[in-house]
Amino acid sequence: MEIYQNIITVFTTNLVRYFIIAGVPFLIFYQLYPTFFSKNKIQTRLAKNMDFTREIIHSIKTSTIIAAFTLFLMYSPVHTYTRIYEDLYTYPMWWFFLSILLALMVQDSYFYWTHRAMHHPKVFKWVHLLHHRSVNPSPLASQSFHVFEAVLELLIAPIIIIIIPLHPYAILAFITTSFVFNAYGHLGYEIAPRWFRRSILFEVLSTSVYHNLHHKKFKGNYGLYFRFWDRVMKTESPDYVVEYDAIQERRFGKMKTSSSMPLKQAGIFIFFLIGLGCMVAFGQHSIEGIWKDNKEGGLVKITERDGKYYGQLIGAEDPKEDEEIRNGDDIWVIIGFVKKDDKIFCCGNLYHPKFRLTTNGKLEMIDPQSLKVYGWYGFIRSTRVWKRV
Ligand SMILES: [Zn+2]
Ligand SMILES: [Zn+2]
Repeated sequence: MEIYQNIITVFTTNLVRYFIIAGVPFLIFYQLYPTFFSKNKIQTRLAKNMDFTREIIHSIKTSTIIAAFTLFLMYSPVHTYTRIYEDLYTYPMWWFFLSILLALMVQDSYFYWTHRAMHHPKVFKWVHLLHHRSVNPSPLASQSFHVFEAVLELLIAPIIIIIIPLHPYAILAFITTSFVFNAYGHLGYEIAPRWFRRSILFEVLSTSVYHNLHHKKFKGNYGLYFRFWDRVMKTESPDYVVEYDAIQERRFGKMKTSSSMPLKQAGIFIFFLIGLGCMVAFGQHSIEGIWKDNKEGGLVKITERDGKYYGQLIGAEDPKEDEEIRNGDDIWVIIGFVKKDDKIFCCGNLYHPKFRLTTNGKLEMIDPQSLKVYGWYGFIRSTRVWKRV
């Protein structure tokens, strides 16, 4: 029964989400207060009701595809390979926010290249033209895609959850940001505040004018959230900054337009964050490395061989063991553990050199810096916490 309830919930949530995130701004800007926001309007010509109907129909279709794909991820073996972590304290709090940013960067890079590929003359009219029929888009167009395009853009989702450790709340924040930003990109009105133009964010983020120009001109500005790839690949529309400034000056009067940080620094800033994130994602959360048993003072170096983990004693508190190590004797205290999931390592043996005893054991990563070691002596369980050196 639970599975049917989940199916209904996932499909309903996706439809409701579209009608709130795209529908509410449409109501405000297009139905209730178009005159109030007239200075914010990017293109002066108006889209027809026929356009809105088409955008809604195709967006409902895309929402259904997203729901089906979500259910596939939930019930296929894919979910066993993900790095999703349930305990918020598995990583430091700053990782929670950085992981969302990283997920957006990965999606943005994927979108840029797939988007450019779909603009190839041989495929454009078969797939991506449907989205471009909204030459002057409204938020209702934010999910108006051909089936193939919807599936192609969704394929990045499993890749993101497999490579980046994400908490379920971070996934929720990522998905919400994605849909809200997409609705903003198709809003047809520029709502960025006055200060935005002189901040670093203007150099890094795309805007509603940015994506609107892509719809108007059919080329340039292929990026989703960031200007990064368009700038690096020199595909950014040369009219972008001029058009953006013209609209903001209409709203706020004459503005100072110099940017606080040049492109080079903005690029370095982004790569710094990516590098930092990858370091945490792929390096720190590994069981490999040197660990210290705070109680006994022993140092253990854990390495991986053929998918199994072994820990060698490389320094000991006990003079007898220390002597053995200095004489060149290999003392293996962790033998043949296998990774069960992101945190648990099982099915191996622990060797206690002092008692010359081998027992069954389990290892658990509490956080990237702490490893809990469980050993069973018959019915008695002994637990230790090792700290990364
Ligand atoms: Zn396009
Ligand atoms: Zn678009």
